Amino acid sequence: METLVIRGGTVIDGSGAPPREADVALKDGRIAEIGRAVSASGARLIEAKGLVVAPGFIDIKTHSDWTLPLMPQAQSKIRQGVTTEVIGHCGYSCAPCLPGKAAALKQYLSPSAPWLDFKDTSYADYAATYPATSVNRAMLVGHNTLRLMAMGMEDRKPTPVELALMVRMLEEALAAGAMGLSSGLFTAPGSYAHGEEMVELGRVLKRHSALYFTHLRDEANHVFDAVEEAIEFGAQTGVHVQIVHAKVSGTDNWGKVGKFLARLREARAKGVKIDCDEYPYTAASNPLRNLMPSWLVEGGIDAMLARLGQAEVRARIKAEVGANGLNNFGRVKSWDAVRISISPDLKQYAGKTIGQIAREQGKDPFDAALDYIVADRGQTRVVVDSIAEDDVRDFIRAPEVMVGSDGNSVAPTGITGQGKPHPRFYGTFARVLGRYVREEKLIPIETAIAKMTGRSAAALGLKDRGLLRPGMRADVTVFDPASIAERATYEDPHRFAVGIEAVLVNGVPVLDHGDHTGATPGEMLRRA
Ligand SMILES: [Zn+2]
Repeated sequence: METLVIRGGTVIDGSGAPPREADVALKDGRIAEIGRAVSASGARLIEAKGLVVAPGFIDIKTHSDWTLPLMPQAQSKIRQGVTTEVIGHCGYSCAPCLPGKAAALKQYLSPSAPWLDFKDTSYADYAATYPATSVNRAMLVGHNTLRLMAMGMEDRKPTPVELALMVRMLEEALAAGAMGLSSGLFTAPGSYAHGEEMVELGRVLKRHSALYFTHLRDEANHVFDAVEEAIEFGAQTGVHVQIVHAKVSGTDNWGKVGKFLARLREARAKGVKIDCDEYPYTAASNPLRNLMPSWLVEGGIDAMLARLGQAEVRARIKAEVGANGLNNFGRVKSWDAVRISISPDLKQYAGKTIGQIAREQGKDPFDAALDYIVADRGQTRVVVDSIAEDDVRDFIRAPEVMVGSDGNSVAPTGITGQGKPHPRFYGTFARVLGRYVREEKLIPIETAIAKMTGRSAAALGLKDRGLLRPGMRADVTVFDPASIAERATYEDPHRFAVGIEAVLVNGVPVLDHGDHTGATPGEMLRRA
């Protein structure tokens, strides 16, 4: 592999240390030397005067397993400077899929990945046959997927046999290189799991030195109960816990980020290994059906559709949502806070809010939402504006909170270019560095970079990535701090970020003068 020297840039090494002028030499996929006037004879040069040279950004929270098989160039992420994506979050993974269960898995995951085919597969086969990608991949196995395989959409405790099957599938995934288990306790069937089931799986993680990532059971009116559940899991199992896409959702809960962070800091002070990450937006995204009480989907999609045909069920849903706000989101300002994102069979509605659709159809917005779920058989995703801007800023100010997009690798053209995805797919890292660092000056740039690199690598247990140090793997992002910015908006999301000049993955240029080279040098990252 050729030697490459990035010359004259401002090095921000990912540790939180202040910027310094230096050259960075890369050789054989690793960082060879960092210093003044590094010899460049025979090396390929990247001139970086006026540019920041940083470790490649680690997107610790993504669902790019929905898109990388079709779009392995990871365009929207590479063009934000991302070199590693953690996939398989929120309880959802595409594997394992037991014989005869592919149709059930496809139906379950259709609001997230309508374009993917599913087939019977072990986790080992899934990992081994993953296409070459431009980004590195750290892969998780999802608890909701394991539960779906073991016992379907049943709202009950697993039998000893079913729990043993989940344990065996988890062990197989970990043996095949999964970094850990993700949970999606907010939604069925993960929401049907309690205490002992999760702790039993946690003991497996501990035995294998693996990690636990959790989409909390509740991010709105009961968020602090859910935080306690995550802390308790960490205390009981000794496993590192990552609360993903941390938020306090719903207008009744705004202003409580300080309390959230204080609780995590107390737990850490007592020895619990617990961290969190955040995306820098006030809107969240979810299947539309998940805004309704979780009992609605018990038994699967057909059972849900049958229930929605009954007037008394609709009245019960309205009463519950009226009392508590939307499931998973809490109270929002109006139905105009709920915007159709991707709707595979009703594409004409992408970008419209439920409020708009209700006005056009002359319906009560609640009925418009429920009718929509029926019309597309629960496949639609929505973007929900449910978080306070000041709360987003409070998480950004906290140096220990990592940046994670919760977004997919996509591109404006091809199958992933459809609908109105959340702008975080394209903008997350550029938004933090452009809006919150350069424009609002909320935190120093070296703190922001550490939240995207060194801290994330530490949480993942990656020993040779996330910092610019000799000997580390050569994942490097070069960007212009004066121009880096997101371009994606909620109305017009399919727009790449700007200001990223070069991205190297394992020493191979993937972005060069702002253009994707087509290279796919990404590796599957494994536990240390
Ligand atoms: Zn989630």
